[in-house]
Amino acid sequence: MMGILVVGSVALDSVATPFGRVREVLGGSATYFSIAASFFARVSLVAVVGEDFPPQYLSFLEAREIDLRGLRIVPGRTFRWRGEYGYDLNQARTLDTELNVFAQFSPRIPEEFRREKLVFLGNIDPDLQQEVLHQVEDPELVAADTMNYWIERKPESLQRMLKEVDLLIINDAEVRQLASEPNLLRASRRLLSWGPQALVVKRGEYGALLFTDSDCFAAPAYPLETVRDPTGAGDTFAGGLLGYLANTGDFSPASFRKGVIMGSVMASFNVEDFSLERLKSLTYSEIEARYREFKRLSHFEDL
Ligand code: AMP
Repeated sequence: MMGILVVGSVALDSVATPFGRVREVLGGSATYFSIAASFFARVSLVAVVGEDFPPQYLSFLEAREIDLRGLRIVPGRTFRWRGEYGYDLNQARTLDTELNVFAQFSPRIPEEFRREKLVFLGNIDPDLQQEVLHQVEDPELVAADTMNYWIERKPESLQRMLKEVDLLIINDAEVRQLASEPNLLRASRRLLSWGPQALVVKRGEYGALLFTDSDCFAAPAYPLETVRDPTGAGDTFAGGLLGYLANTGDFSPASFRKGVIMGSVMASFNVEDFSLERLKSLTYSEIEARYREFKRLSHFEDL
């Protein structure tokens, strides 16, 4: 089984949705990704937190057997994100982003991690994403995420980074914004011309699309009665997708399609509760059951 190297934010999030609110709970792009991927593959995490980071959160990551040798704990405050959602849970409103220890972070990949074949560049400063990538020796598959915060502040760095990325995983609003093109299909084509061979467009409760130059695959989202907090849905999606690819070692188009479904499965669990609460109690047999449900959901036959 292949391992995955992930870099991204490990955060303390304060989130309000119409269904509740939480303060300074475990969050961050790399956190959601790692926990989701850990159900399928070995995960090595590269990130930084401050000395204020609660030890019980480290224990949770350790309990999922995530390799934390690349997680630095430095003097200062941990990255903090504050956001809220209205009844349309597809759109997060960022109220505050405190980079804190990420502002001076210069990632150094431990020797033992440099030969990993799968790399996920989670949502952080695109310059840091590139710094990490350049320390990896010979990756077979590089996937990346980003968000409006970086599209607005560092568009050139982002475009440079994309030249070296195989698979870009972002949401529909980010696709339009990054490509400066309102039509999703045209925008996707434009992003594919910048470097990546594949693009996953996440569309929240409407599912996800997988584009390559020659193919398009549409996955629904699992219809849920209880959605409490969409934070981290994108990262758990990416964790499920890359975890599946690492687990099978199969990067064929058919395997990518199954991976997109596994990503949707993981995201559907995550949104059922705040922070990583749902993933904490999740079992592998629940994952398998929902994967089967997904298959039924979109199966049809010609008469
Ligand atoms: P998602 O809902 O999957 O797009 O990601 C949510 C996570 O992204 C939250 O847990 C935040 O801590 C993290 N996040 C928000 N803004 C940023 C940013 N500018 N850089 C890195 N991580 C961020």
